[in-house]
Amino acid sequence: MQFVDTHAHLDEDAFSEDIGEVIARAIESGVISMVAVATTASSSRATIEIAARVPNVFASVGIHPNYAAQAKPGDWELIEELAASPKVVAIGETGLDRYWDHTPFEIQLDYFRRQIELARTRSLPFIVHCREAEPDVVAVLREAAGTEALKGVLHSFCGSEATLDVALEVGLHISFAGMLTFKKNEPLRQLSKKIPLDRLLVETDSPYLAPLPHRGKRNEPSFVRHTADSLAEAHGKSLEEMAAITTANAKRLFGLPE
Ligand SMILES: [Zn+2]
Repeated sequence: MQFVDTHAHLDEDAFSEDIGEVIARAIESGVISMVAVATTASSSRATIEIAARVPNVFASVGIHPNYAAQAKPGDWELIEELAASPKVVAIGETGLDRYWDHTPFEIQLDYFRRQIELARTRSLPFIVHCREAEPDVVAVLREAAGTEALKGVLHSFCGSEATLDVALEVGLHISFAGMLTFKKNEPLRQLSKKIPLDRLLVETDSPYLAPLPHRGKRNEPSFVRHTADSLAEAHGKSLEEMAAITTANAKRLFGLPE
């Protein structure tokens, strides 16, 4: 069985001591590719460095909404430059966040729009973070959606049916993280059945929010199979089938090697 972890923060301090072992465990458990997702300009450099060292790791470069206020002059230009690096397969993570108050909303909006545009220019998918900002994210997606489908992913999805409908309508993929496995999230598993099989992705969003049965521990890419398992069950598929479906989708969306 093969999996792709489409969202892991491999450059974070939580992994600084044992990143080699973390990646080895992932590969051992069938994770053929991981997308290391950046949150700042310096984190974008770091994800590219990891990707350059490890064949199974690919990088996303961008500025997370919660870090946009801290962006220094030149950071955006650096992101534009790094976006052309060979192993960069996505832009982000971008999006909007009204839960934390780290970045004035206007600045978040500006960076979200810029990153969608950069992704379009480079023909890369963009990775959307959405926390307590669903109507705002929906508005930006609608504004960005032209005649052709948007190329991107709504990551760690745990939103409403209305948001899901728009995300699918504008062409986005939907990625599930560990929260899908939590007992109380039966409504989310039910909602996931609405998503066409060719739009489904799985991720860990590690080191955060580990899936059952690892809940409460540091999350890591090797745990992605538990989320795939929950998704498989909801869709009435075997884990093998869901692994094959989500892996094919990830390869197609991010242009990963066969
Ligand atoms: Zn993330």
